[in-house]
Amino acid sequence: MYKAKAYAASSPSSGLASTSITRREPTEHDVQLDILFCGICHSDLHQARNEWSGMMPTVYPCVPGHEIVGRVTKVGSAVKKFKAGDLGAVGCMVDSDRTCPECKAGLEQFCPNFTLTYNFPDKHTGGVTYGGYSDSIVVDEHFVLRVPSNLDLAGTAPLLCAGITTYSPMRHWGVTKGSKVGVVGLGGLGHMAVKFGHALGAHVVVFTTSPGKKDDAIRLGADEVVISRNADEVNRHAGSFDFILDAVAAVHDINLYVNLLKRDGNLTMVGAPAEPLPVGVFGLLFRRRSFSGSLIGGIAETQEMLDFCGQHNITADVEVIPIQKINEAYERLLKSDVKYRFSIDMASLKSE
Ligand SMILES: [Zn+2]
Ligand SMILES: [Zn+2]
Repeated sequence: MYKAKAYAASSPSSGLASTSITRREPTEHDVQLDILFCGICHSDLHQARNEWSGMMPTVYPCVPGHEIVGRVTKVGSAVKKFKAGDLGAVGCMVDSDRTCPECKAGLEQFCPNFTLTYNFPDKHTGGVTYGGYSDSIVVDEHFVLRVPSNLDLAGTAPLLCAGITTYSPMRHWGVTKGSKVGVVGLGGLGHMAVKFGHALGAHVVVFTTSPGKKDDAIRLGADEVVISRNADEVNRHAGSFDFILDAVAAVHDINLYVNLLKRDGNLTMVGAPAEPLPVGVFGLLFRRRSFSGSLIGGIAETQEMLDFCGQHNITADVEVIPIQKINEAYERLLKSDVKYRFSIDMASLKSE
């Protein structure tokens, strides 16, 4: 075991502050990374403040962060994928059982015995896992991704959650050249969906409540922008979409978007409203439309996504902050006051 520097919440209302945590020394299949950048995901804020107490109660101290990019410093004797000096990345999971049907299918995100990157029982230490708001992390090599060398590292970090969360359903539902794709909500997830849709060759239409985001949506790769409060503008697209990705976490009218799908079209939710959404089933019956959800992606697909980003030079649009601004960043996140993701420069932790 060794001591690592970190930023942790010590209670739901404490905010985050500098602390020291214990991590395991790398065992034979482990990779140790010096963390260079860690993105800030909305889940980090929910977990730090114990807002998911019913489903995943927070154990304090809580060190969030599951959008991690780092430099390999040490590898175990059996590690094949990495050597010291390589870049590596870690997303939302750090382990799974590798034996269940989900793992065998490469869908570790649905493994009943997976280990999430933070606030999850840690098989090695007996405590909980600690995430990326830290100077280093030790992870089994299967859960460490290779990072294409041409990508900006600050903008690469958010690919590990926001990126794979949007890439995976687009691939699953067959988005390809010539598809018509809708993206509802232009935030951390939505802006990645626009970039991926564009790079896959789709015709991308952004739905937003904010007319001010129009120019930005076009810059990110959208072909059209529709102000979702304008019913006429929305209805002009009735029955025309192959796929719509909905990244809005607030309660909103889902039927509006169901009715924009063509035959066999799919609407996938990646935002998670706290309240149930009423779905008009008639909208699904006609044209055999489907309504579904999606959760991050498996390890193989996460690597595929990173490689795709390398080929198309795709990264998240980030505002880089020092770790000392983390509490301010959380407040700004609540107001959607960031274009489009915060990325923490972990060099700032060295001065603590
Ligand atoms: Zn996340
Ligand atoms: Zn499994």
